[in-house]
Amino acid sequence: MTRKYSGFTRRAFLKAACATGAASALPFKNLPALASDEAVVVPTRPFGKTGIEVPILGFGTSLHAAFSQLLLRQAVTWGVTYWDTANTYMGGNSEKAVGKYFAKYPEDRKKVFLVTKSHAWNADGLTRDLNLSLERMQTDYIDLYFAHGIWGIDKLDAQTKRWAQKAKTEGRIRFFGFSTHSNMAECLLGAAGLGWIDGIMMTYNYRLMHSDEMRRAVDACVRAGIGLTAMKTQGGGQVQIDSATELELAGRFLQKGFTDGQAKLKAVWQNPQIASICSEMPNTTLLMSNVAAAVNKIHLSARDRQLMRKYAQETRSNYCAGCNHICESAVAGEVAIGDVMRYLMYARSYGDHKKASDHFKKIPQKIRKQMLHLDYAAAERKCPRKMAIGKLMREAAEELS
Ligand code: SF4
Repeated sequence: MTRKYSGFTRRAFLKAACATGAASALPFKNLPALASDEAVVVPTRPFGKTGIEVPILGFGTSLHAAFSQLLLRQAVTWGVTYWDTANTYMGGNSEKAVGKYFAKYPEDRKKVFLVTKSHAWNADGLTRDLNLSLERMQTDYIDLYFAHGIWGIDKLDAQTKRWAQKAKTEGRIRFFGFSTHSNMAECLLGAAGLGWIDGIMMTYNYRLMHSDEMRRAVDACVRAGIGLTAMKTQGGGQVQIDSATELELAGRFLQKGFTDGQAKLKAVWQNPQIASICSEMPNTTLLMSNVAAAVNKIHLSARDRQLMRKYAQETRSNYCAGCNHICESAVAGEVAIGDVMRYLMYARSYGDHKKASDHFKKIPQKIRKQMLHLDYAAAERKCPRKMAIGKLMREAAEELS
């Protein structure tokens, strides 16, 4: 993919920011990193050994068809041409929004690195879901097709491999991989040994990126030529409101002209092993803010990074790291503790109570009842972050039911 289609200059970018009211969220102080008439285009990085260059900022498309068309158009203009969706997002409407866009701007299809996902991991299910995604998005190929949300590499087997190879041969997908927000390091290490995974999207942020196991896993994938996309890069958002370190960080970022959200993106981009960040950007304000961070060439200083790690350490018991295998093996019931923690994050940190509740209600009622009465003491002892699992499971049942 090339970046030749932008025509939006810095001056126009600033004008649009003022017009949309986004100015207060943007680090204008730092935009002079661009020459005044230089086009605003998000930089690119190679995606593993695919031979494809992708923008370092990807567009997470949980979008409604009616409200998203201008946003998608603007994303293309600024080079945010890695689009990530899934057959289940917005009950299928997100894929339909992409399809509506391609029907109107067919010339943009080749500019976009299109990713979608399926929860079905068997051949019949993958075929059914791929057919539906192609139809909804009005395209005859997907650039990168993901098995959605795996929590162990054993979810992919020889049947999945055969399916992926056949779909590639038929030209219906170009690359295959998976997304994961549970047991990420184990999934990445497993994928590196398979030899047929092209790309992975995983939870990865300033809280998780420094652990030895995550470093090893990322190194292994890079050696294996697997393209890596980070998601959930805000690390759960603000998880504590009385941290002195957070205030110190906020002051430093303010002086540099960053918001804390932009700084968290930059922390991830400073690892060149990560090809792209997938960010859900439901409005122009967030799109502009993230694009501004992507084009800005000022790096976080060593002191900034050190403070971010200190803050992550101070607040670690408020952020679930998705290491489900540790806690879930220590409780008698079938509760997917890591998943419920993530739904709580959608509600409490992202403010998206509907998404949280929709996910939570998919848990069978029997298990939802069970989770109120289980003994979580052993799980809490094992949890490396010492999370109050029992209390949080009960609060989730109350808040999200
Ligand atoms: S509750 Fe603790 S052990 Fe369980 S997934 Fe979260 S951080 Fe890991």
